[in-house]
Amino acid sequence: MEKVIIIKYGELSTKSDNIDFFLKTLKDNVRNKLLGIEHEIKYDRGRMIVYTDNIPEAMEKIKLVFGIHEICIGYQYQDKDFALIKENVLRLIKNISFATFKVVAKRSDKNYPGTSIEIAKEIGSHILKGLANKKVIMDNPDLIINVEIRLNDVLIYFNGERGLGGYPVSTLGKGLLMLSGGIDSPVAGYLAIKRGVRIEAIYFDSPPHTSPMALKKVENLARILSKYNGEVRLHVINFTKIQEEIIKNIPNYYLITIMRRMMYQISAILASNINAHIIINGESIGQVASQTLKSMQVINEAIKMPVIRPVCTYDKLEIIDVAKKIGTYETSIEPFEDCCTIFVPDHPVIHPDFKLVKEYESLVDFKTLIYEAIKNRKVIKINEYEEKNYDDLL
Ligand code: ATP
Ligand code: MG
Repeated sequence: MEKVIIIKYGELSTKSDNIDFFLKTLKDNVRNKLLGIEHEIKYDRGRMIVYTDNIPEAMEKIKLVFGIHEICIGYQYQDKDFALIKENVLRLIKNISFATFKVVAKRSDKNYPGTSIEIAKEIGSHILKGLANKKVIMDNPDLIINVEIRLNDVLIYFNGERGLGGYPVSTLGKGLLMLSGGIDSPVAGYLAIKRGVRIEAIYFDSPPHTSPMALKKVENLARILSKYNGEVRLHVINFTKIQEEIIKNIPNYYLITIMRRMMYQISAILASNINAHIIINGESIGQVASQTLKSMQVINEAIKMPVIRPVCTYDKLEIIDVAKKIGTYETSIEPFEDCCTIFVPDHPVIHPDFKLVKEYESLVDFKTLIYEAIKNRKVIKINEYEEKNYDDLL
């Protein structure tokens, strides 16, 4: 018998066409998450099993991996003799305090005698005979006893913990997250990661109008996201020159529209360069002038690359709830302003006009500035283990 961690896949097991790819990726993601903890992983299409001497710490880490429906601490036996199974169950539950229970049996070895229900019933009556004052109830028992009779082993485990769900990170490809220091964009990033998208991030920095602390804050947010994503490459774009040109040449009430079109264009070019399929951002319908539907339409028109807005239908309070749950909220509310908040005009246009946008954009040679900004970007690799590692990759 071996004490193990059992991982259940849930939604994943419905992906029959590429299940093997999903499971291999999940295994790699679990392995990366367990860096520094000695362990071994085995899996088949039913379950993934982690062997380690450090179960509590491994459990904590595995809880942050997407693509997992449930995680349970359990026991694996090689001997499938039924009398032995019943004895093993009894021995395991003797030290657990409970009054009510139910047995859930699963028989993936289809040659094993008896149906799942018969197996569960027999184990249940064995328990009732062996232990006094226990009662079987189906709804909400104190203890759920799971017994799985598989091809080459038997798994016994009790009430598990819910995993984060979603898909293993990177099984759905790569996206570029527009990461500001606010509350919304880290949540948007998290939700995209949850659906199997591996992210890189882009941040528009405007020194000296923004403090180095604003960048530090974004790095810290990226570090929190790296717990879910694995290493996050943060592309820091120096946006100062473009912003200054906008302010010098463009009518005040169109500043934000054009600034955001520039951000979109830079993001789209960078996304293509890093083989990302989509851009992700934290826009939410109606939140600010640049997020009216008309504004979104005019801003989005600057690029062809699809933009995914995971929180676009969330209220601010709903976004905050997720931010608190994933641990980004406290960092997001630190008071360092990013480039947008500094350049907000008094009356930004809420129904921007395409024709005017084109006209204003022709006043500045933005194309050159855009390519310059991308070429001069700084790339910071951020993971949850290292404090900081500046690395100019260009
Ligand atoms: P957040 O939306 O993250 O709370 P915010 O409210 O300051 O920050 P908005 O002005 O609402 O940002 O911008 C909408 C979205 O545009 C952000 O969620 C983010 O995805 C992107 N964005 C804004 N500013 C920046 C920036 N300086 N760098 C990268 N992305 C940005
Ligand atoms: Mg916002």
